[in-house]
Amino acid sequence: KKITIAIDGFSSCGKSTMAKDLAREIGYIYIDSGAMYRAVTLYSMENGIFTAEGIDTEKLKKQINSIRISFQLNPETGRPDTYLNGINVEKKIRTMEVSSRVSPIAALDFVREAMVAQQQEMGKAKGIVMDGRDIGTTVFPDAELKIFVTASPEIRAQRRYDELKAKGEEAGFDEILENVKQRDYIDQNREVSPLRKADDALLLDNSHMTISQQKEWLAEQFEK
Ligand code: C5P
Repeated sequence: KKITIAIDGFSSCGKSTMAKDLAREIGYIYIDSGAMYRAVTLYSMENGIFTAEGIDTEKLKKQINSIRISFQLNPETGRPDTYLNGINVEKKIRTMEVSSRVSPIAALDFVREAMVAQQQEMGKAKGIVMDGRDIGTTVFPDAELKIFVTASPEIRAQRRYDELKAKGEEAGFDEILENVKQRDYIDQNREVSPLRKADDALLLDNSHMTISQQKEWLAEQFEK
């Protein structure tokens, strides 16, 4: 019987790598809920909603239901790419410009309402692994398997730094660490579905774990 798997945790803690690999191994669909908030952020930047003056929430509220986000498997990477109103935005949503603006957008109640509705719709398929911040608490409170992943801010910043460097994007370590800490703070302190571990989620601190040790841990949870 196919189940729903919710993987939540702090930014850059490796939860999406874990979720993607897991989905591929067990033949489930992987959904990156963070990519959806990133896509809304990009949309806001490209449509004069998120400017130097701040966020035009009234304008975003009017347009939120016309923003369509979907995922399509990229045969080259074997992973899903994110589409915003039919356009592939996978690369654009991973930049520091988007990373540094996404948390305030994700804190807006009407944005969350719209995204959660789209996520729950996708979840009707069963056999999905979704990662994010509020999947086990809000989106799928009845998920059969919930995992909450964490690691120290310094270790997460280092991983993010290495990842960006590998893609040829230069960003300073201090800037990244600041961004990681800022997102943690906003995500944990927002009014709607703040980032927190669901009571029935398994806790995984992977600060000192390699990818293969993490895989072993995950396999053990499945045996239980
Ligand atoms: O997972 P990722 O770092 O790509 O998520 C980007 C941002 O989107 C997070 O910092 C958080 O503010 C927001 N987010 C959220 N709820 C989710 C997934 C992501 O608020 N379920």
